[in-house]
Amino acid sequence: MDSPERAAYPEPMPKGFYPLPDTLDCAEILNRLPVAIALVDVDSGRFTTANEIFRESFGSPEGDFSTWWQGVHRAPASTASPAAPPAPPDSSMRESIESDMYGADGYPRHMRTEVRLHGRHLLVCLVDLTDSDNRQDLLRQALAEMETRSITDPLTGLLTRRRLEEASLSEMHRFRRFGHPISLIIADIDHFKLINDSFGHPVGDQVLVEFAVRLSSECRDLDVIGRYGGEEFVILLPSTPLAGAFTLANKLRSAITQAPFDRVGPLSASFGVAECVAGEDWHSWVTRADQALYRAKSGGRNRVVAAPESAFNERDIKHRNRLDRLTWEDGHCVGDPVIDAQHHHLFELANRLLTLVREAGPPADLHATIRTLVQATSRHFRDEEAILTAIDYPRRDQHAKAHRILSAKLDALSSQSALGTLPTSKLIEFLAYDLVDHHALGADRDFIPWLRRPPKAEESGAQE
Ligand code: GH3
Ligand code: MG
Ligand code: MG
Repeated sequence: MDSPERAAYPEPMPKGFYPLPDTLDCAEILNRLPVAIALVDVDSGRFTTANEIFRESFGSPEGDFSTWWQGVHRAPASTASPAAPPAPPDSSMRESIESDMYGADGYPRHMRTEVRLHGRHLLVCLVDLTDSDNRQDLLRQALAEMETRSITDPLTGLLTRRRLEEASLSEMHRFRRFGHPISLIIADIDHFKLINDSFGHPVGDQVLVEFAVRLSSECRDLDVIGRYGGEEFVILLPSTPLAGAFTLANKLRSAITQAPFDRVGPLSASFGVAECVAGEDWHSWVTRADQALYRAKSGGRNRVVAAPESAFNERDIKHRNRLDRLTWEDGHCVGDPVIDAQHHHLFELANRLLTLVREAGPPADLHATIRTLVQATSRHFRDEEAILTAIDYPRRDQHAKAHRILSAKLDALSSQSALGTLPTSKLIEFLAYDLVDHHALGADRDFIPWLRRPPKAEESGAQE
């Protein structure tokens, strides 16, 4: 097992230990170590020596150690009062200290300091952790980048096909529960292959980016836009019936044709639109939109075609069998007769509004029903807050605050409807998400356990 070098050392040796060759001196080794090392005289507290790495990093240390320690913990350009540095380590120190120090170059370094008593000297070792911190940061950055890369398409910054499908599934889940309409648009650039063939692939890429920007600028914040593949884009439209999606698709179509594209000139695109119908899955929904797109292409391009299978005309709307109501169920009861009766009444009012929106009822009727809803919610919030006080519900203040926010939103919707500027999607969103899903079926279920407790007065008398 003996290597030739080992055999060259004289005997006797403690197990596993060999003396330094005579040709190496200690100072040389200290200078070559990738650790900043200095010796401090214990009695005077002054530096006596420092190795090369130390001098390179912090300059030649002068004076006493604790003044030096204060100095390296102060940012060179800092005019603000610096944060207190950690206490300088002394010979009693057992643990290492990690802190940010400023080197001779003025840049901060993350250092680990250890000191050991060695005869009358304090041996100070400083290990630079900055690089390993940087590596950690780079790793974190790379991971975050990978994550967004799989969420967004690197060319256009839009969602990837997979993320778009995930978003659609969660919207479809809401649709099944509440029946509010969702639609999707598939957009495909006309004769895009010609662009690549005539101007080259990089210009084709630029056109895709510009196309994505034009689509995005016409959509609402709520809409979800994804690059479905190649030069095909999908837009998911929550709270939007087919008629709304058809209108938006036509706006998008105009946004493409109204001005020439940079470097390639005028372009057009074709659009397929489909509203999700009860009982269908994502695949069937997107296939119907795709078939509509195909018809737009074969019909001459630069046009919008709506999938006829979904209810598009008035007669179909009246007769289709789909979840288009907020259905009141016994499971929605919280257990207080006043609150349950009022919730049930609010559901009915919300349904009346949804019907008016769906069947494009007279604006005056819509506004009158919104006013009734404003009055009913205000009465309900007042009664519910009184009940929560009576049962000593601990989060009643937060609950009252949620009520105030809902009331303010509803007031704003009511003012918009009076002016005739209320987008129906906003109203549907408020009724289905804010009032029913998040509040009546969300926050209002939190106080059920308090409603079920015996009343306080009976429990412990009136003195509390
Ligand atoms: P149509 O009007 O029928 O849609 O004709 P088209 O030429 O647009 O349709 P087709 O689907 O035949 O061609 C799409 C082309 O898009 C083919 C493909 O090379 C190109 N393409 C797909 N992805 C990219 C991309 O990321 N960058 C570029 N520059 N081109 C792409
Ligand atoms: Mg195309
Ligand atoms: Mg295509």
